Amino acid sequence: MKGAFLILETGKGSLLSCQAVFGFHSQEKHMENRYSWGVRLLLGLFLPNFKVNVVNELTPNILHQLGIRNILLDVDCTLKRYDSDQFEDWVVEWLESLKCAGVEVCLLSNGKGPRIGRIANHYGLEYEAMALKPLPFGCWRVIRRKGWDRKQTAMVGDQIFADIAAGNLAGVKTVHVTPIHPETEPIFTRVKRPLERIIFFMVPIHKINET
Ligand SMILES: [Mg+2]
Repeated sequence: MKGAFLILETGKGSLLSCQAVFGFHSQEKHMENRYSWGVRLLLGLFLPNFKVNVVNELTPNILHQLGIRNILLDVDCTLKRYDSDQFEDWVVEWLESLKCAGVEVCLLSNGKGPRIGRIANHYGLEYEAMALKPLPFGCWRVIRRKGWDRKQTAMVGDQIFADIAAGNLAGVKTVHVTPIHPETEPIFTRVKRPLERIIFFMVPIHKINET
């Protein structure tokens, strides 16, 4: 499941530190030339700061360069396929590498407490269930409880209308992950996928390679 390393930065252009690290320029001008303020407002709500194919592309080294020390982590279709409660080995190894590097992780899911709690306990992770994403309150609850700095925190997930919107509203960095086996998702999630593709089509994306 390990894809070729690829991080994409979208047109929000809000992470100046990352721009300095990777040497690309903001696409805000590009958006200003094409879209009205209302469209830009909507795009700003749903666009992630970064995009990766799989979560383990967010290596401790990359996270350090992005200024991310804490991660709010979606569960379904981000860490595992929807119809399974098991993480594959590469996910477990990635979580272990974050732990070794001192990156703190808390699962943040809209799923019900018993199921998410069972998964979190099995892998020794903290969690917040029934987060009601895209509302930001779940993000804020974890940040307050953990004493995290919002500027050093990222919401990582596969749904722009839930995970990314919640992270943007909460004022943290946002990373979109290509969903794992989206064909296993319930229909109410699958119907939103074409809209996500339209939004990603509207905004130019820059590829960044780790060097
Ligand atoms: Mg998900």
